[in-house]
Amino acid sequence: MSSIYTGPVFEMARNQFTHVADYLEIPEGKRDRLLYPKRAIAISCPINLDNGETAVFQGYRVQHHLTLGPTKGGTRFAPSVDIGEVSALAIWMSWKCALAGLPYGGAKGGITVDPHSLSIRELENLSRRYMQEMIPFVGPHVDVMAPDMGTNEQVMAWFMDTYSMYQGRTVSEIVTGKPVSSGGTEGRREATGLGVAHLIARAMQRLQMNPAGATAIIQGFGNVGSYAALELAQQGIRIIGVSDHTACYFDPNGFDVNTLLAYAGKHGSLKGYSTEALFDPDQLLVQACDILVPAAIERVIDADVAAKLKCRILAEAANGPTTPEADAVLDQRRREIFIIPDILCNSGGVIVSYFEWVQDLQQLFWRRTEVLNRLRDLLDNAFERVMVRVEKDAISHRVAAMAIGVDKVAQAKATRGLFP
Ligand code: NAD
Repeated sequence: MSSIYTGPVFEMARNQFTHVADYLEIPEGKRDRLLYPKRAIAISCPINLDNGETAVFQGYRVQHHLTLGPTKGGTRFAPSVDIGEVSALAIWMSWKCALAGLPYGGAKGGITVDPHSLSIRELENLSRRYMQEMIPFVGPHVDVMAPDMGTNEQVMAWFMDTYSMYQGRTVSEIVTGKPVSSGGTEGRREATGLGVAHLIARAMQRLQMNPAGATAIIQGFGNVGSYAALELAQQGIRIIGVSDHTACYFDPNGFDVNTLLAYAGKHGSLKGYSTEALFDPDQLLVQACDILVPAAIERVIDADVAAKLKCRILAEAANGPTTPEADAVLDQRRREIFIIPDILCNSGGVIVSYFEWVQDLQQLFWRRTEVLNRLRDLLDNAFERVMVRVEKDAISHRVAAMAIGVDKVAQAKATRGLFP
């Protein structure tokens, strides 16, 4: 089938799906219905810039499938955003939600923009315009947005406010990842990073590794990377390498994560944090460490990097950090490197987003401990199911995780049948 869905990230999602569909023995004739998105919306967002000119930004929203409930997924503001990238991210969200047992299909959206190039006023105007253009296509029981790279709680608050103004009442359940003061949930801000660290702890138990004295390298120091770093440090793990889009640092003695956080909070990035620990970003991922956490962008581990990795655990906090070519290499290194695949590793975010949506719908709010206990419970359940499948069929962690997700969606489609 020829389609609008192209590009390296979409090809990666398609390639992974084909691999899993072969393993699940899904007939050729049923594959397109599972893979291709149900809807893809492309919009132009004009805004007035501070200098008086008008600029137009391209935005997208892709809703992958509607079989299990509304669609759910983040919103990315980044220069790389295109329909292929957004579609791949929506497809991964579907398998992730199904693996975690959430009643959602996957979605993703975004705007092709470097958010750092905008003033706060321009960012607010763009965020509001994006949501306003999306109003006909989203809703609390249709498609629920969340943050992703380049967006945050503030952007979600603007989305919620814009949608609510058009409805004439507050509709907090239209987005998740909002500030607690605007209907957000306790624990959402740190959920993805906490989930990453929780699953790393599970993997370490399984591998009989001691956190005290273990080392970790983290690529990306935004929402996910910074909270993962903080939590790992609290487990006694030494953070020896860290980077963001502006700087990269390495120090075998380890960094104080609270100081890094305070610096990034004050300066907006890690640039200028240290001159002594400056390091080549191309070499960061291949340094020796116990735990490697890519928490930034896709496709940073290709076949070449995969062959050089010197970690014991690869915890994929980012979406799609490992290419299918790298997977082939890592398959050969299965005994050396324990992978926590992205759709499991970063699922803490969507799990707590689901809790936020449930609380907003009921207007009944839980305490932080309740949110985090329920989060750990769902993560442990998904982790165990992946491990059982790995052992039963001697397959890779990624194939096992994706197979559970794909299987669930395939079965739901089969039992519901094809309308009309
Ligand atoms: P963010 O915008 O808060 O942070 C992204 C970080 O990555 C920033 O520190 C940025 O400087 C850094 N970065 C960007 N390009 C880089 C590069 N080339 N090298 C090193 N660092 C680079 O985004 P986030 O929400 O933390 O998301 C990070 C990843 O986690 C993305 O892949 C996202 O899809 C995924 N994810 C996020 C959530 C969530 O709840 N936020 C949930 C699941 C998955």
